[in-house]
Amino acid sequence: MADLVVIGGGLAGSEAAWQAAQRGLAVTLFEMRPEKTTPAHVTGNLAELVCSNSLGSNLVDRAPGLLKEELRRLGSLVVDCADATAVPAGGALAVDREAFAQEVTNRIEGHPRIELRREQATAIPEDRATVIATGPLTSEALANKLAALTGSEHLYFYDAMAPIVVADSIDTSICFRASRYGHGEGEGDYLNCPMTREEYDRFVSALLEAETAPLREFEREDPQFFEACLPVEVLASRGQKALAYGPLKPVGLTDPRTGTRPYAVVQLRQDNQAATLYNLVGFQTNLRWSEQERILRLIPGLEEAEFVRLGQMHRNTFLNSPLLLRPTLQYRGRDDLFFAGQITGTEGYIGSVASGLVAGINAARQAGGQPPVAFPSSTMIGALCHYVSSADPEGFQPMKANFGLMPPVVPPVRNKRERYAAYAQRALDDLARFATTVDLVLVPPLV
Ligand SMILES: Cc1cc2nc3c(=O)[nH]c(=O)nc-3n(C[C@H](O)[C@H](O)[C@H](O)COP(=O)(O)OP(=O)(O)OC[C@H]3O[C@@H](n4cnc5c(N)ncnc54)[C@H](O)[C@@H]3O)c2cc1C
Repeated sequence: MADLVVIGGGLAGSEAAWQAAQRGLAVTLFEMRPEKTTPAHVTGNLAELVCSNSLGSNLVDRAPGLLKEELRRLGSLVVDCADATAVPAGGALAVDREAFAQEVTNRIEGHPRIELRREQATAIPEDRATVIATGPLTSEALANKLAALTGSEHLYFYDAMAPIVVADSIDTSICFRASRYGHGEGEGDYLNCPMTREEYDRFVSALLEAETAPLREFEREDPQFFEACLPVEVLASRGQKALAYGPLKPVGLTDPRTGTRPYAVVQLRQDNQAATLYNLVGFQTNLRWSEQERILRLIPGLEEAEFVRLGQMHRNTFLNSPLLLRPTLQYRGRDDLFFAGQITGTEGYIGSVASGLVAGINAARQAGGQPPVAFPSSTMIGALCHYVSSADPEGFQPMKANFGLMPPVVPPVRNKRERYAAYAQRALDDLARFATTVDLVLVPPLV
């Protein structure tokens, strides 16, 4: 009988199953494909890449590259298979998608302690340690069970992501700190970007002229999709003043530079505990990413903004993790239930692998009587796990690896490239130290 059940043989589930099996657990991995498929997958292979064949930058001083390097050092199955099937892609790690997914499948099938069951899981096992890694397109039967477990208000089916900006790149000589009508703590909880009538009109025209990203067929066909959260460009198309009466309303705000109420205001809300990131309130959008950067920089105070995430809308099943998960990726209400992958909010292919690795290691530690571990937030793996377990639960959205999630380096480094190199060096040093203190073997021996 298995020690651990892993549900979902995607990027996260394959990694979790491997990590736990490498540490001695007998694992049953449930993957419903090819018997039952999702609207995005086309093969029966494990770890199928549903869209791009690029796993992002491979450079250690870039956030996705650092995340891969940490995973390599921790013996990640998926990153090893990606390295083995890489195709030329400059500084990025791109793979031959067929060969990559086949390699992951072969290694999982060949592992003596993993049993692969091609079956849909329709319930959450109660008598067995479990990792749930069913991804953004979790089957309906299991999604219903998850909604029953977490409360349906804590399980989302659509992303309507607003862009996120690095605090340091906001021009605070223009933006002012205040909450509407002076509510909230101290100086005010929001950074406000004030707009004159002319600035507002220019911004709305740019929004209306911009190109939007195409929706996938299964998203276009779903009538609930756009009801989830209207994008700013759709609101803008409803009338010249629609935004000024909606998310950009200036009521209760006075610009200290002029002593008057601006014509419109874009509000920025703190997005992480360290206050290094701010999101644009109510700014979910489906504009093409290249258009977003250009248009968002028309907002006064954001002319030089550095965005760690741009807005997007797509179908995505995910939990309100800050309310439900610990940084160990354990479910708060049940110690032997773990979540991994996109469903936790660790966004993207490699973000999903990272949370799969953490869940697999922690499931094995728990089974072996060792306490599960939370990686330090100065590592990219830890920064992601801390973000999903401690971000503001209101409006929580998945997050990709980025340096803004990490505590600032001390002393501060002004040059961006040098700063990123310093983050990366600190992360790898801290990972090595952490591994020693919690008895984690870096690069575990292959079976
Ligand atoms: C359409 C789409 C395109 C994307 N494109 C990209 C991209 O280009 N780059 C990027 O970085 N990220 C992309 N993502 C986001 C994310 O990185 C991927 O979805 C990634 O595959 C998530 O990994 P995962 O392991 O969490 O889920 P998945 O890789 O989807 O794995 C989940 C697995 O669980 C299985 N499953 C579901 N329900 C059950 C069940 N009840 N029982 C058994 N098995 C089940 C599924 O068949 C699937 O194999 C995209 C997401 C979507 C939806």
